Amino acid sequence: MARKVLVLGEVRDGTLRNVSFEAIGAASLAAEGGEVIGVLIGENVSSFGNELIQYGADRVITVEDEKLKQYTSDGFTQGLLAVIDQEKPEGIFFGHTALGKDLAPRIAGKLNSGLISDVTAIDEAGGNLVFIRPIYSGKAFEKKIVADGLIFATIRPNNIEPLSKDDSRTGEVSSLSVEIKDLRAIIKDVVRKASEGVDLSEAKVIVAGGRGVKSEEGFDPLNELAKVLGGAVGASRGACDADYCDYSLQIGQTGKVVTPDLYIACGISGAIQHLAGMSNSKVIVAINKDPEANIFKVADYGIVGDLFEVVPMLTEEFKKLKV
Ligand code: FAD
Repeated sequence: MARKVLVLGEVRDGTLRNVSFEAIGAASLAAEGGEVIGVLIGENVSSFGNELIQYGADRVITVEDEKLKQYTSDGFTQGLLAVIDQEKPEGIFFGHTALGKDLAPRIAGKLNSGLISDVTAIDEAGGNLVFIRPIYSGKAFEKKIVADGLIFATIRPNNIEPLSKDDSRTGEVSSLSVEIKDLRAIIKDVVRKASEGVDLSEAKVIVAGGRGVKSEEGFDPLNELAKVLGGAVGASRGACDADYCDYSLQIGQTGKVVTPDLYIACGISGAIQHLAGMSNSKVIVAINKDPEANIFKVADYGIVGDLFEVVPMLTEEFKKLKV
């Protein structure tokens, strides 16, 4: 059944997040030959419209207002509900990002619709789209179908392939004028805690450190390796609790859930709460002094050794490969 599907494009730090392209890929499956419409909300965001089209959107609608310069649930809800009211879509897709996790349940509540959050794959069975999502901290997967009504889903970054970018694709980028009523929360300033560089939740390569890193400076060789691999640095809660790094780097049950192509765990024991955030990574390399460490049970490659010797050696070898 051909459907009209909206995809919210997420702009952060002056670029569209990759997960927006992955959400378009998911939406084009759900559209089944129908129309995929990108939605951009913010201030001066229309310049990103063509990129959404190049990644597979058929057209793009923008809602621009200075009150939407910073994300607020209130402002974005008003903007998106106006687009939904105009377009009457049969599907809505967001990235499963901090923004998506905040906005999607709110919109679903307003629409009195269901929501399938944190989708990692979409399949087809018996003429139905099957949405697959992890449950019990990634220990099992459940399959969901939408029997009837709106298909509303958030897509976990790094799991669904985006469509290939096609620079020759063209489509309409139109603006919808929405009167944004006074916001209940006004963001005066944003102070970033996280480091610059690759965004942890979308990184293809993550080098993560645990309590075995032993100090803030102990993260230096990990930063170096991540830089050479074009990846991001993450951490266990053990490392965060010990004040070796910021909590924004924490991966796990109470931190970020990540699914990079390559996860290198350095001095991390592999507690169940840590595994909950990274065990679905495509390739896991563990470096640990203790051959009995639990992390080796989920690792594809294990190196028993001192991370302060192994990590610099890896960095040197990867540098040679890049030359
Ligand atoms: P440790 O368990 O102390 O492990 C350190 C490892 O480093 C050891 O295996 C050791 O052999 C190795 N090591 C030491 N020196 C070296 C060296 N020089 N070279 C190589 N290896 C070395 N944890 C998370 O990570 N994320 C979460 O989201 C999270 N949520 C939690 C939620 C709850 C409700 C609870 C109760 C706990 C949670 N935890 C979480 C904490 C979790 O249980 C563990 O305590 C934590 O993951 C341990 O961190 P770690 O592996 O860095 O430290």
